[in-house]
Amino acid sequence: MKETVQTVARWVDGIVEGDNSIEITGISFDTRKINKGNLFIPFVGERDGHAYIEDAREKGTYASFWQADSTVEKPTGLALIIVEDTLVALQKLAKSYLEKINPKVVGITGSNGKTTTKDMMASVLETTFKVHKTQGNYNNHIGVPYTILSMPLDTEVAVLEMGMNHAGEIAILTAIAQPDIAVITNIGEAHLEYLKSRGGIADAKLEIAEGLSADGLLIYPDDPLLKERLVGEAVFQRESFGESENNTVYPTSIETSMDSTDFTTSLTDKIKFHVPIVGEHNVYNALAVFLTARRLGVSVANIQKGLYEIGRTSDRLEWIEGRNGIQMLSDVYNSSPTALKAVLKTFEHIKTNRRKIIVLADMLELGAQSPMLHAGIADSLTEEIDEVFAYGPYMSYFTEAAKSVLSAEKVHYFTDLNKLTEALEASVSGDEMILFKGSNSMRLNNVVAHLAK
Ligand code: ATP
Ligand code: MG
Repeated sequence: MKETVQTVARWVDGIVEGDNSIEITGISFDTRKINKGNLFIPFVGERDGHAYIEDAREKGTYASFWQADSTVEKPTGLALIIVEDTLVALQKLAKSYLEKINPKVVGITGSNGKTTTKDMMASVLETTFKVHKTQGNYNNHIGVPYTILSMPLDTEVAVLEMGMNHAGEIAILTAIAQPDIAVITNIGEAHLEYLKSRGGIADAKLEIAEGLSADGLLIYPDDPLLKERLVGEAVFQRESFGESENNTVYPTSIETSMDSTDFTTSLTDKIKFHVPIVGEHNVYNALAVFLTARRLGVSVANIQKGLYEIGRTSDRLEWIEGRNGIQMLSDVYNSSPTALKAVLKTFEHIKTNRRKIIVLADMLELGAQSPMLHAGIADSLTEEIDEVFAYGPYMSYFTEAAKSVLSAEKVHYFTDLNKLTEALEASVSGDEMILFKGSNSMRLNNVVAHLAK
């Protein structure tokens, strides 16, 4: 973004104190990462960000937002744009800037797979358009405006990841971004704690469709909870993807391997799509991308090329070489029942002569149903799994259930991560393949690091 103080003030309904002809380049919330010429945006949280404006000015900021009710002493020597609420002003600024550039907007939400789908989406659309996408995981009420405001002037398509923990959050993001195409990757069990039920999650994800116009398209997974909410006339168009033939597109064949996934689709006959990421769920992420790209007029050859060339940006589901040649598949930054089941299925399908071990830790933020959801993971176990190591209070429910699926001596339970590490170390010789999955704060990454080469 490159605008004058005057324009910014007009966009955010602010009043300028100081020179309104000053040019602003980009925005910053954090004086440790500020660039010369950035507009500083102070938030009032645990600490009052207004106290840092002085520091921002010393680092080359010529203008800052100022929340009218801030009790900090007003600084001098830079322009202030007085607003009622700096967060709302940031969101208004993003909305106006987006309207000025006016790219096609693709919004992506869902319980799992948002970042993966966003990166696949950008890779495919970049074959044909000038694309700007969410960096990393900047997907919330601050991250989405930030992404928009860092968009170059010549952007043709903006690919925005939209995350949420609570009802109403996606509605705010959709109002800012006004997607032309809204994608829901899946309805899982993530964030049950705040949304109570899968139905509540479905409602919250559907907020992404609220801003769609008659030309707008909702791309959604084959999930009964979504389908029952989408009956009747809608003001926007809809296309679905999923396993069954009732969907706009479905896979006609899937081949999974150690480091990639190949598939063919019902809309493209024998053409094979290659995705260089592990996991059958990625076929469905790719089908959501396929429908979006098709809608935007990207050729099948370019969709194929874009999927083939996906740059891996996340450190999730990663193959790591362990000592003595152990093969480790690490996915230790977040975990939810849907994601874990998807990964387990992939892991079980891998063809290998190695002994397969799974190391699982608690999935957090699942609310009152957490014990049941942990126990339910055991339904996904098959004889393909030779040994199970489980860790964490909730995993005790899984452990009990797992012992009735596999024989009890294959299932080990720990309340101490060091003890688990020792037992795992004692159990492996080198010809194993080990899957690690758990929520980030369970620290399975330490176990992976310990066994890494
Ligand atoms: P966050 O809420 O942290 O932003 P996200 O929705 O962006 O998460 P990703 O980072 O893309 O999700 O993927 C997280 C994990 O979810 C992956 O490692 C994979 O195990 C799993 N996953 C990805 N896509 C799907 C899918 N379509 N269905 C189920 N699980 C999936
Ligand atoms: Mg993400």
